[in-house]
Amino acid sequence: MRSKDRIAYFYDDNLGEDCPVFDNLFEFCQIYAGGTIDAARRLNNQLCDIAINWAGGLHHAKKCEASGFCYINDLVLGILELLKYHARVLYIDIDVHHGDGVEEAFYFTDRVMTVSFHKYGDSFFPGTGDAKEIGEREGKFYAINVPLKDGIDDSSFTRLFKTIISKVVETYQPGAIVLQCGADSLAGDRLGCFNLSIDGHAECVSFVKRFNLPLLVTGGGGYTKENVARCWTVETGVLLDTELPNEIPQNDYIKYFAPEFSLKVPNGPIENLNSKSYLSTIKMQVLENLRCIQHAPSVQMQEVPPDFYIPEFDEDEQNPDERIDQHTQDKHIQRDDEYYDGDNDNDQMNIS
Ligand SMILES: [Zn+2]
Repeated sequence: MRSKDRIAYFYDDNLGEDCPVFDNLFEFCQIYAGGTIDAARRLNNQLCDIAINWAGGLHHAKKCEASGFCYINDLVLGILELLKYHARVLYIDIDVHHGDGVEEAFYFTDRVMTVSFHKYGDSFFPGTGDAKEIGEREGKFYAINVPLKDGIDDSSFTRLFKTIISKVVETYQPGAIVLQCGADSLAGDRLGCFNLSIDGHAECVSFVKRFNLPLLVTGGGGYTKENVARCWTVETGVLLDTELPNEIPQNDYIKYFAPEFSLKVPNGPIENLNSKSYLSTIKMQVLENLRCIQHAPSVQMQEVPPDFYIPEFDEDEQNPDERIDQHTQDKHIQRDDEYYDGDNDNDQMNIS
C-alpha cells in the first residue's frame, strides 16, 4: 500500500479524534515499538536484568485500532517477545488509565497475567477496567483490575499495590515482569485525577524491582510534562540503585522546572474519595479471584518463533582500539540456553 493510501486507510477507519495523523508517524511507531521489542530481546538474551524504554508504554492501542494517543501497542509486542523464553509474563500498569489494549490482547490466555490500577467510573477514558473483568476461557482469573476513585494518595495506593502484587507474584510465579509506569497517575496531571507524589509512584517501581525477575519498564501517559520528566528520572535512579540530588542541574530545559528547580514535587490537598471500606472490598475481591488459581499454569509443548537475528562477527578481526557499538557488544555476551532452573519447574516448552 502506498504511504498516502495507508494514511487514508487509517484515517477513515482506525484513528479516532485523539490519534491524529502526523508527519513521520510510522517512524515514530517504529522507534518506540522497536525500543520495547529490543528491551525484551535483551532481557531474553540476559544482556541485562532491567531494560527501560520511557518512550514506550502505549497501552491503549488495539490490534486493528489506534486509541488514546496510542498507535501501536509496543507492550504487547514486547510481551510476545518475552513469551518466547518465559512460560508466564506478568504485566503491571500504574498509568491512571486502564491498560485496556494489553488486557484485550491476552484476555483469553493464562500465559500473561495483566494487573491494572486505574481510575474507573464517571465515564473516565477508556471506560473499561471494572473489577468484574477477570479474563475468559483459559484466561479466566488472569486479568486483574483495580478500579479506583479520584484523589488516591501515596499510602492507600502503595499499600494496596504491595498487597496485590505480592500475592500475584507468589501465586502466578512469572518468569518476567513488564511494568508500565504511566506518570498521569501523579498529583497535578492535566488529565489524571489521582494524588500520588513522585515518591509514592517510584515506591511501586522499587517494590517490583525487589522481586529480582527480568524486568521491562516503560513509560506511558503523563500530561504535565515537567512532572513526567521528574518522575521517570527518579525512577531511573531507583532502578539503578542511585540516589539523585533533589536540585535539578543546569540544562537547556531548566526553565520548565521553575520556581523550585527541584526533582521531587509534593502531592496536593485533594480529597481521597477511596474510603477504607471501598479499598478493602476491592482488595478482597482481587484476592478471592487469585485464590481460584490453583497453581502457576504450565505451557504445552509448542513451536516458538525464532529470535531476532543478531549477525555473527569475528572477534579476531576487531581493532582493540576501536570503540565497539552496542549491537556488537551484545554479540559478545553468549545467551545461556537454560530456560528455567527452578527445582519445581513443570514447564515444557520447545525453545529451539
Ligand atoms: Zn494514561
